[in-house]
Amino acid sequence: MTNYDIIVVGAGPIGSTYAYKMAKEGFDVALFDMKNRIGQPLQCAGLVSTNICDTKNLPEHVINNRVKGANLYSPEGTMIRVRKEKTVAYVLDRVMYDKYLFDRAVDAGVTHHLGERVLDVDIDNTTIKTAERKYSAKLIAVASGPTCHTSKKMNPDLNDESFLGLQYTVKTENQELDYVNLSIKEGILPGFLWEIPTSPFTKRVGLFTEGSYSEAEKILNNQLKSSDEIIEKHNGLIPKFNPNKRIVKNNTILLGDSASQVKPTTGGGLISGFNCVEIASKNSIKMLEEGNNKYLLNYEKEYHKRYYDEFKAQKNVQNIIRDMTEDDFNYMFKKLKEYEVDKIISEYGDMDNQTPLLKELVKTGIIFKLVPKIGVRRLKNIWKSL
Ligand SMILES: Cc1cc2nc3c(=O)[nH]c(=O)nc-3n(C[C@H](O)[C@H](O)[C@H](O)COP(=O)(O)OP(=O)(O)OC[C@H]3O[C@@H](n4cnc5c(N)ncnc54)[C@H](O)[C@@H]3O)c2cc1C
Repeated sequence: MTNYDIIVVGAGPIGSTYAYKMAKEGFDVALFDMKNRIGQPLQCAGLVSTNICDTKNLPEHVINNRVKGANLYSPEGTMIRVRKEKTVAYVLDRVMYDKYLFDRAVDAGVTHHLGERVLDVDIDNTTIKTAERKYSAKLIAVASGPTCHTSKKMNPDLNDESFLGLQYTVKTENQELDYVNLSIKEGILPGFLWEIPTSPFTKRVGLFTEGSYSEAEKILNNQLKSSDEIIEKHNGLIPKFNPNKRIVKNNTILLGDSASQVKPTTGGGLISGFNCVEIASKNSIKMLEEGNNKYLLNYEKEYHKRYYDEFKAQKNVQNIIRDMTEDDFNYMFKKLKEYEVDKIISEYGDMDNQTPLLKELVKTGIIFKLVPKIGVRRLKNIWKSL
């Protein structure tokens, strides 16, 4: 049996970043991925806030576009624009990005096993089995994405639930590059539609939904203009945050989508995943140096401290959105315009931390004027959770 200090399952952005950080500390790290071609097929809209710069994981060459805000569309087409003077988000070439993060890990000394699917993670013995052989380690980090057997092993009583994400890469006529378009459609709530410009003549058009692939495809096709030409279609799963999910057992941890470290309202998982890598690597180093796995439990505690309240509040918002109708949204958008809430969103809105905006809307009482048809009691419950 081959032995390593650390085995990482999954060379997506989160697994590769964790592997890189641990190899840089001098540990003997092995990174496994069932794919031979890292990053493919594309399963991401590639939109991240500029907060990603704080993670120090973003090279300039993977940025396709920079945006200043978003145009939000109600079902009947009322538009409100939220914007800042400066760039608020980057549109990334996710395929190139995943490859960059993987190569960085390999350059730091990580041993890679591409095209080698991990068939089983033995949590009791800290070993893994692939079709080729068995490997052992002092610590296993599982970052194999939303469909994760190890998560099921750690959480036998929980069902890992996901949204379906469907996206087209589209050739289009000359378009504005500064804004993404986000639209609401009843059939996909609490999900939404996005249109993200990647260059003057290309964009990503996608949605996430709890519905079926065929329904999603119908809605997405309707969203296209007659001049749009589909170049590629992609789909993937977006895990739902579950506050009761365990992410550590013995010497095995879950990371990234496997740990459902994804913003509930938008499905974005890159920045939260990178931040969790930071927490996990810091505690993994202590665990390996002192041989005490209490540090891995600290990883779970610190992750909860950082994200539990934010994700819980976002999940509550999502539950309210799920029950809203197109009429509710049409009404709400008119009120948003009337009360000039676009200005408040522009000031307090943050793609990653939505509680400051929610607090402001609740504090000023505006939120109750916006959504009179959905129970005030439910809104008050959100307020209590903030
Ligand atoms: C349609 C869509 C749009 C999205 N848009 C955005 C966005 O705009 N911004 C954002 O921040 N996030 C977005 N996300 C979410 C984001 O893509 C994920 O949060 C991110 O990819 C998570 O990275 P990860 O490394 O945890 O998992 P993944 O990227 O899923 O990587 C997991 C890796 O594990 C490998 N693997 C799986 N099983 C095994 C096994 N048994 N053995 C070996 N290898 C295995 C896979 O091949 C894969 O390479 C989107 C997701 C979807 C589906």
